[in-house]
Amino acid sequence: MKVGVLAVQGAFDEMEAYWRAQGAETFEIRQRGDLDRGLDLLALPGGESTVQGKLLKDLGLFAPLKERIDGGLPVFATCAGLILLAAKIDDSGSRTDTRPERWFGVLPVTVRRNAYGRQLGSFRTVGTFDGKPNVPMTFIRAPAITEVAPQVEVLSTFDGAPTAVRWQHIIAFTWHPELN
Ligand code: GLN
Repeated sequence: MKVGVLAVQGAFDEMEAYWRAQGAETFEIRQRGDLDRGLDLLALPGGESTVQGKLLKDLGLFAPLKERIDGGLPVFATCAGLILLAAKIDDSGSRTDTRPERWFGVLPVTVRRNAYGRQLGSFRTVGTFDGKPNVPMTFIRAPAITEVAPQVEVLSTFDGAPTAVRWQHIIAFTWHPELN
C-alpha cells in the first residue's frame, strides 16, 4: 500500500514511521507535484489545524486533495487532521478559520478544538478501541467530538465522548495512534 503523508506542518515524521512499520510504502506530500506519485491512502497528521489549513491553500494542495477525498480516497487522520475533516466546528474551544478553501469539512461530526483545557491539555490513558481493550491513547491538546451523525461508527470514547470514528472511507482519531 502506498501512503501519502501530508507533511506541511506537525507530527508527520511520526505518522510516516507508523505507516512504514505497518509495511506500507510512504511518501511526503509537500507540494502539488507529490500527488503524481499516486496514493492508496492519505494520512493527515496532528499539528496545528489552522496552520495546516492555511498551508494547504497557499501550497495549492487543498483543491486536489479535496477532490480525491470527495472521490473516496481512504483517509487516516489524527487530531489536527480530524479537525480539518470535520463538517462542523464548535467554536467555544478556540476560534477557527473554516473558510471552505482550507477546510475539508466532509466528515459528519462536530469537533471542539483544544477541548481538554490547560491542565488536562495533554494526557495518556488506556481504553477500548474497536472492541479491543487496553489500547494506549495519547491525547495532545486534543479536540473533542461533540456530535456525530447517525451513520458514523464510534470506535473509542473517553469520558463518554467519541474519540475515534469511522465513516465511509475515513477513519479519524482525537488521540495519536501513531505514537503507541
Ligand atoms: N490543538 C490542535 C488544533 O486545534 C490539534 C492538536 C494535535 O493535532 N495534536 O489544531
